[in-house]
Amino acid sequence: MSTVAFYTLGCKVNAYETEAIWHMFEKAGYTRVDFESDADVYVINTCTVTHTGDKKSRQIIRRAIRQNPDAVVAVTGCYAQTSPAEILNIPGVDIVVGTQGRDRLLAYVEEVKRTREPINAVTNIMKTRTYEPLSIDKYTERTRAFLKIQEGCNNFCTFCMIPWAKGLSRSRRPEDVLAEARRLAQNGYKEIVLTGIHTGGYGEDLEGYALADLLRDLSRVEGLARIRISSIEASQITDAVLEAFAATDKLCRHFHVPLQAGSDPVLKRMRRKYTTSEYARNIERVRQIFPDAAITTDLIVGFPGETEEMFLDGYRFVEAIGFSELHVFPYSRRAGTPAARYTDQVDEDVKRGRVLQMLGLNEQLKRRYRKRFLGSVLTVIPEARATEERPGTTVENGKAEAGEGSVLLSGLSDNYLRVRLTGKNEWIGELVDVRLDELTEEGFSGTPLGVHDGFVLVDAKQGAL
Ligand code: SF4
Repeated sequence: MSTVAFYTLGCKVNAYETEAIWHMFEKAGYTRVDFESDADVYVINTCTVTHTGDKKSRQIIRRAIRQNPDAVVAVTGCYAQTSPAEILNIPGVDIVVGTQGRDRLLAYVEEVKRTREPINAVTNIMKTRTYEPLSIDKYTERTRAFLKIQEGCNNFCTFCMIPWAKGLSRSRRPEDVLAEARRLAQNGYKEIVLTGIHTGGYGEDLEGYALADLLRDLSRVEGLARIRISSIEASQITDAVLEAFAATDKLCRHFHVPLQAGSDPVLKRMRRKYTTSEYARNIERVRQIFPDAAITTDLIVGFPGETEEMFLDGYRFVEAIGFSELHVFPYSRRAGTPAARYTDQVDEDVKRGRVLQMLGLNEQLKRRYRKRFLGSVLTVIPEARATEERPGTTVENGKAEAGEGSVLLSGLSDNYLRVRLTGKNEWIGELVDVRLDELTEEGFSGTPLGVHDGFVLVDAKQGAL
């Protein structure tokens, strides 16, 4: 019985692709082992969003080779796509396959086992117009299922390497997305997270079928309770998408809308597809449908040419939007992108100072948003046992009491609030109604009121409510 181990760097799309690649090995009779243990095959799914991603990828590759020098070492993902020669120069690497053609990885592994000749299977991704046929029907360690619907990006923001690593935007066939959603629902997944490089761009390359249509069709999938969109560009929040938002009763009230900068001159140099007023208007339109929605975002601080005034404009704009959480990144100069050649780079110390200010604002905004839900009851999907266990806790009349067989669980509400509760192992992956009793560092701790059984609320003790 051959063994295979995986290591995934980067984003949700990479997590999905690793799972799909594992499915192929599983069907071929392989056993999955930990990356830290000896394996016959190692697959490393790399990231190149920053130089750190490249460096970390090389470290992981070398770790696999040291772990078992006789193993077949296969490297895939964005760094493999953009720098195959660099990777093949690492002694011990056998296969490099970029961000396309992973469906042939098993065949490459068998070939290397025979010939021990390295294989460079990287193709010109900018010429690719077809969506790669990878699929899944379950996850090894997840209760919320990422469902990849789209690949690539046509935007070419001046700071971003991704279009060069992933190619132009390509949508997955709707029937394949729906079939996968049904399989996931049949396998007990209550929530799917629609994932892609440019998720909101779904359908731009399809005839008469776009994200709005997909949301409607997905909301009819039996057994699915929640549909989360991993990310959507402000420029893609169209009338049709907003109508679909309003019509999709399973849509999570959580919208990750990357802003990147809150100053128009900076947005222009980033080549973003919206202005601050267009961004604000679209967020307002989302809030008209979902007044309590969690709006999260990505922010790049210290982009070349960003003056103190532009930064403060951005700070005030972010505060005015009232995000529920910010992901703040210092601008990272990425060779191969236009912005890396800009001469007015911002000093690293200045960048660090601005990041700290934005992180301070993030704490305020998070607290302000969370406070609104203190004492309310939200449905949570426990994902796993939280770190510490409180032995002897049981649930009496919905209240957590000390007793045998209870564990501390952690999960997310539809509006992306992290909640801890005391409950039972079998609640993992289920829909649990929880009263949010206390604010905590990561979100809330709460009292479970009942578990949805096929969407009927069942009191932990009394049965259906
Ligand atoms: S929209 Fe811009 S930042 Fe996002 S993947 Fe495309 S090029 Fe990169």
